[in-house]
Parts: sequence; C-alpha cells; structure tokens
Amino acid sequence: MFSPSLHIQRHQFVVDFVKRNKPKQVVDLGCGECSLLQKLKFHREIELLVGVDINGAKLSKKKHILAPLSTDYLQPTFKQLCIQLYQGSVTQKDARLRGFDLVTSIELIEHLPLHDLDKFSEVVFGYMAPQTVIISTPNSEFNPLFPGLSGFRHSDHKFEWTRVEFHSWALKACSEYGFKVEFTGVGESPPGEEECFGFCTQIGVFHRLLGKNRHMSGDDVDNHFSYTLLYSINYPSLHDNNILRKAVVSEVLYWVEKLKTEWLTENQEENPVEDCVRERGDHGEIFWTNGDVQECNMLHRHVSVPLHKLWICCPKLSELTDSLRNLVQLIIDDPQIKMNQDRSAVIVCIQKEDLEDDDPNDLMDSGYVEANNMERERWKVDG
Ligand code: SAM
Repeated sequence: MFSPSLHIQRHQFVVDFVKRNKPKQVVDLGCGECSLLQKLKFHREIELLVGVDINGAKLSKKKHILAPLSTDYLQPTFKQLCIQLYQGSVTQKDARLRGFDLVTSIELIEHLPLHDLDKFSEVVFGYMAPQTVIISTPNSEFNPLFPGLSGFRHSDHKFEWTRVEFHSWALKACSEYGFKVEFTGVGESPPGEEECFGFCTQIGVFHRLLGKNRHMSGDDVDNHFSYTLLYSINYPSLHDNNILRKAVVSEVLYWVEKLKTEWLTENQEENPVEDCVRERGDHGEIFWTNGDVQECNMLHRHVSVPLHKLWICCPKLSELTDSLRNLVQLIIDDPQIKMNQDRSAVIVCIQKEDLEDDDPNDLMDSGYVEANNMERERWKVDG
C-alpha cells in the first residue's frame, strides 16, 4: 500500500530526527534485525549507538551488518563510534542505558502484554530518563483500509490502539515522569480522509522537561545490570594513537615518494614547491635547493625530503598532527620511515625505476658510476 514501505518510512522518520538534532548517544529498543541501527551508524555525530532486543538469537544473526566497512579503516576520521548490542527486556532496568540523548521504540510496545506497559514507562521515562523518546505503534483506526484484514496486523500483537488510546497512555507517562509529547505519524490516509483514519503508524515524540525528573535518584539506581552484552565494536578513529600513527605514516610515505618523483623529473611546472630549483652539480649529482639548503643529493642514491616541505605540501599532515614535533614523534619509530640524524628530514632511496625516464646518457644510472661512487665513499671513510 505504501511506497516507500511503511517500515522504511518509520526508520526515515528517526533518521530525519537524528539529522536535525544530532544526538550523541542513541538506543533503539526492540531493535530486531538491527536495520535502523544500520542506517544510524552512518550519522557520525552519534558516538554511542546501542540496540536492545529480547531475542538474542536475532541479534547474533544480524550483528555483522553493524561492523565497520573497509572505508572506515582506510579513511579513519577523528569521529568516534561505539556500537553495542544487548539481549534484554525493556521491562528490566540496566544502568548502562541511563541518560541517553535519544531512545527509540519502533513497533515494540504492541508486542508487550498490556500489564507490562506501566513497567515499560517506568524503565524508559523514569529510569533511562533520556532527553527524547520516539515511540511508534499501529493506529487501529487505519485498519479498515487494509483489504481483508480482520483482527490485528500481526499475530504477535497484544493490542492495537486508536489515536485516543495512544494519546491518553502517552499523556499519563508525561505527567508521571516529566515529559511533553508531540503526536505525528507516517503512512498517510487517502486524500480527504486524514481526519477519519489518521496515519497508519502513529508516533509520539517525547521531550524531557528540564528539572522534571523525579526518578533519577535512589540508593540502588546504578546497580542494575540485567542485560547481556552480545556485541561491542569501536569504529576506527584517529583518537586511537595506533590508527593515527598508521594514517600519518601512510601520508608521509605517499608524499615522500611524490616529492621525490617530482624532484627527479625535469618538469618543474608540476612541482608543488615553487621556491625550489633542481640543479646538477659538477660531478653529475642532483641537488634540490631551497635558498642555500641542499636537500637532494644523489651521490648516495638517496633523496632527503625535509619535514617542513612535507608540511607545506600536505595540509593533511598538519590536520593530523598539529605540529612538526608531533609529526616526528609519530613517525620516528616506524620501520618504513628513515630519518636523518637531526630528524629534520625523511631519507628515501632512489630506485633504478626512478631514473628510467632520465637522460639515457646519464652515467648516474649505470652500475659503473654506482660502483665508482661506492668506491670513492669507501676511500673517504678509510681516510
Ligand atoms: N524495531 C524494529 C523495527 O522497526 O524493524 C523491530 C520491530 S519488531 C516488530 C518487535 C521487536 O521487539 C522484536 O524484535 C522483538 O523481539 C522485540 N521485543 C519484544 N518484546 C520485547 C521486550 N520485552 N524487550 C525487548 N525487545 C522486545
């Protein structure tokens, strides 16, 4: 009857709320197949995303859809995200779920026996006491529009409420626990019949009133741990020093290679370091000069890339490390990176391939010159 499906419209309602309000901690009660969590994990303002369901087998089967993707590892950011799944009942308290920004309960309450609803209100509004609660449930007044439907929409539903029934339950919870509520829904009635049938799914968005939570304190309030943690994953973040180190090292290796290649080619136009000039010395060696500093010396078949050059060429390095000092700290022990003695430059080898496009008459690339240079160096060392 609906396009997009009602299921998708309900989840989109929550996603739109999250986009507008940017909650940091979100728990989805009765998360089932984890499909809402899977959508929410892309909203990286969320730092803690939790799912709770009484059916642990369902969670275990679906938890893989919440794992980080390869792009999360390849392009980590400073944003942090932890996802957790708990097996437990919404009629039980658990201290780990208190004080969240947003609690969602999508098509859950109608699966609870009516006598558990007071407990649900006590746990969600009184004990968890989040800033916002979004609750969706079927609107039974819409049911006559489903052709051939008799009874409830699902065999496991314990009740389906009219709008008045939902409103009166919601307003009672508000007055008991210090919330206000707005009513809305998804799945529209045929044009002109909105008043008669209402939305197919009715939704209450509850906001906690400041200073109105009388249920937060109590002697044993923090001692409830009734849920079982089934899954917990921390997404890669640059706040993790190992991940930051890897990102910095790969950035340095990339730029060192890039600068080396640019320095070794004749094409100065593409050179990102405008104030640098390539010169050839009397003995065929190539210098990379910047003022009076010699920065590339091919005599030893190495290029020395100064860190301050990397810093200028690669703005990402300053984003990642803040200072040259931090940059050195992060790369100094990495086996892939070789630094000069005063740690002001990265030393990179010149491979045969680097010179292949060079002047064919250039003796630098011949074994003769290489051997000759080595011999000369040995003599120097030997004095
Ligand atoms: N919220 C999900 C969605 O929108 O796709 C799933 C809704 S499904 C109709 C209802 C879910 O509530 C089921 O996964 C069921 O296992 C869960 N459930 C039922 N009773 C529960 C309880 N007491 N505590 C936690 N979850 C419960």
